[in-house]
Amino acid sequence: MFGAIVLLTFACSSGGSTTEPAPIAQPPVAGRAAARVLMLTATAGFRHDSIPTARQVMAAMAASGAFAVNATEDLSLINADTLRSYDVVMFALTSGELPFSTVQRSALLDFVSSGHGFIGVHSATDTLYEWPDYGRLIGAYFKEHPWTQQGRVVVENPSHPASGGAAERFSITEEFYTFQENPRGRVDVLLRLDPASVGATGDYPLAWAQSFGAGRAYYNALGHFPETWRDARFQRLLTSAIAWTSGQ
Ligand SMILES: [Zn+2]
Repeated sequence: MFGAIVLLTFACSSGGSTTEPAPIAQPPVAGRAAARVLMLTATAGFRHDSIPTARQVMAAMAASGAFAVNATEDLSLINADTLRSYDVVMFALTSGELPFSTVQRSALLDFVSSGHGFIGVHSATDTLYEWPDYGRLIGAYFKEHPWTQQGRVVVENPSHPASGGAAERFSITEEFYTFQENPRGRVDVLLRLDPASVGATGDYPLAWAQSFGAGRAYYNALGHFPETWRDARFQRLLTSAIAWTSGQ
């Protein structure tokens, strides 16, 4: 019931209404509260053109009732008090050395390690290179993007809850990332690039999941283009990542 009330509060605040939320008879999903996601799209480096689409798509997906989202560029919301109202923090298309204080950094790490969720999307690995604990949370740092083209994505672990019942492989036009260190071995790799599909060889993980203390962290390297955010397959992956990281 608590989660249902919060969901309604978000819906009101995004519509600019100041009226008291009306009591509702049914929670949005029977038997469990909708996950509450704080989506940060702040940038201190490269800024993706897909950010407005990412925010629109997340709001539209939230309208289905599977989760509630509050999208922001306000770094000050990353603090222990505010995070008490959320289940998942999502860094979507963030970049550069976002100026978090030491207290804020501790608040984010404590939030996840105490049993909550963290999701990073695309350039979330091109973010906060100078904060090694963030590197641990996100799993790897961006190295380069050698292939911006159609490529084939292999779903390595379709039975993982964060894989959302994805097909075994799918083709998508993306800016495919490589990473400074291959995170395989430290994380549970969920998606990888089929190197032959871009004329390459090697191991290129594209999405992964890991435990972080009592919490859960997920990263997905896709999301460069607005079209990716509009892609139902990508949306399903994000929805299942939200459910899994939130502990549902
Ligand atoms: Zn990009």
